[in-house]
Amino acid sequence: MGEPFSAVEVIRAKRDRGRLSDEQIDWVVDAYTRGAVADEQMAALAMAILLNGMDRAETARWTQAMIDSGDRLDLSGVGRPLADKHSTGGVGDKITLPLAPLVATCGAAVPQLSGRGLGHTGGTLDKLESIPGWRAELSDDQIVAQLRSVGAVICATTPRLAPADRKLYALRDVTGTVESVPLIASSIMSKKLAEGTDALVLDVKAGSGAFMKTLDDARRLAEALVGIGAEHGLRTTALLTGMSTPLGRAVGNAVEVAESVEVLRGGGPADVVELTVALAREMLSLAGIDGPDPSAMLASGAAYETWCRMIAAQGGDPEAPLPAAAHVHLVEADRDGTLQRLDAYAVGVAAWRLGAGRGRKEDPVQHAAGVICHAKPGDVVERGQPVLELRTNDPGLVPAALNALTGAFDLGPDAPATSPLVLDAVRRPQ
Ligand code: URA
Repeated sequence: MGEPFSAVEVIRAKRDRGRLSDEQIDWVVDAYTRGAVADEQMAALAMAILLNGMDRAETARWTQAMIDSGDRLDLSGVGRPLADKHSTGGVGDKITLPLAPLVATCGAAVPQLSGRGLGHTGGTLDKLESIPGWRAELSDDQIVAQLRSVGAVICATTPRLAPADRKLYALRDVTGTVESVPLIASSIMSKKLAEGTDALVLDVKAGSGAFMKTLDDARRLAEALVGIGAEHGLRTTALLTGMSTPLGRAVGNAVEVAESVEVLRGGGPADVVELTVALAREMLSLAGIDGPDPSAMLASGAAYETWCRMIAAQGGDPEAPLPAAAHVHLVEADRDGTLQRLDAYAVGVAAWRLGAGRGRKEDPVQHAAGVICHAKPGDVVERGQPVLELRTNDPGLVPAALNALTGAFDLGPDAPATSPLVLDAVRRPQ
């Protein structure tokens, strides 16, 4: 049987600023997934979409077509309200690690199907894989069983969830077509909708270390994401949060796990605690749970107990020592002063170059590599005091990391202007 459309006609329609019909969208996404539309044709269409956009209805249909390219996870047997979070990615963004067990402790089930990192923002699975014995790959049945017994699971996304997105995202990555709001929004939401959560909180980051550099761009993405959620009947809220300086003090893999454990034990950096609690409250409210206060669950150690059970359920030893780097290099203050700014992007690139991240998706990561920020904006330092600590197993990587850090921070006489971490929220009545 012949194809009902030709790829060239669909590309031309979008190239000439037309709307794609539902049938064209369903066909092109399906035909691309099964190989009947070639990579170069989908690349041309992605570029036409990047340049000419898609409206809300086209974006919702595109999302549905990507969901329909695979299977949905059946979480109906979990027996508790489901709530998930997705972050658009940032430097030092380890929030999923304390958040999932915290929200589970408060009564929801949290299915966090995550990916590995690419580029300057780290991947949640790469971080957790620094825990001895922990494994990311679970079957659907294991995911459901763990959600029932522990309430939280952080694991690798399964290959049958939105396979069209997997193929298209890899293509966009190499064709300069990642930065399209409808394509990013449909990519994120197709995976979350296929996962079958009841409620979703999005952490849309704005700043140098984020995908979206400005608050206006982040707001446009948040509105597109929340709009798709509304079209699909998924309770969705987006928080817009700052990402001009790293979150917390640790950037890397094992170092971020260690910082998350501090938070779960009732300590840790104030910004990580603030964002974890803010996202937990949103998730619980969207899931309709009016239970214990998340900050009390951190302070009491109850969330840490859930963390230990979550890690152990996936073969990890939560008490085992984390890998330590063989080589440490300190970047010291060259004068007395107050740290005016610490650029998130530069620190993210430095951690990546030290071995914490990967350049290509098949590259390994160094679990012990990363950057510790001994000072954050507003902190007073004396000449000779460390501002940054670079950790790696390969000292040959330090010069490239130092290069990335050129101009990454300033010291000045006065306290810098501060801005709140949670900048705004985008909500839609359902
Ligand atoms: N994250 C995704 O999952 N998809 C995108 O397109 C961009 C970021």
